[in-house]
Amino acid sequence: MNADCLFCKIANHDIPSDIVYEDERVVAFNDINPQAPVHSLIIPRKHISTINDIETADESLVGYLVSVAKKLAEKNDLSEPGYRIVMNCNQQGGQTVFHIHLHLLGGRQLAHLG
Ligand code: AMP
Ligand code: ZN
Repeated sequence: MNADCLFCKIANHDIPSDIVYEDERVVAFNDINPQAPVHSLIIPRKHISTINDIETADESLVGYLVSVAKKLAEKNDLSEPGYRIVMNCNQQGGQTVFHIHLHLLGGRQLAHLG
């Protein structure tokens, strides 16, 4: 828990959010500024600032974020139409909140990358 971190506060229920899933390792909640009909963020309870700070010991936790995203996609009937998961890193990667989070986006046609 980082006392200055917005997403630690959300994980700790100190700040309200629209939580869609939580367990002992992760919390998932809807993005406050959704870019698609489904736009949830999946975060570890553990504070990790950026992808650059992921350690070997965190590998299974980060894999678990993907697994939870997959289950939320299923729950939202996105498995067949498809969806996107994204994790931004630092300023040029578009990261604005420095507690790692996986975006789950779906429910509309997403633009091709490149
Ligand atoms: P990123 O730009 O990848 O760091 O993503 C941060 C995301 O957090 C953005 O999509 C914001 O809309 C979202 N966000 C910021 N504050 C909140 C909040 N209080 N509750 C839910 N989502 C938030
Ligand atoms: Zn944090």
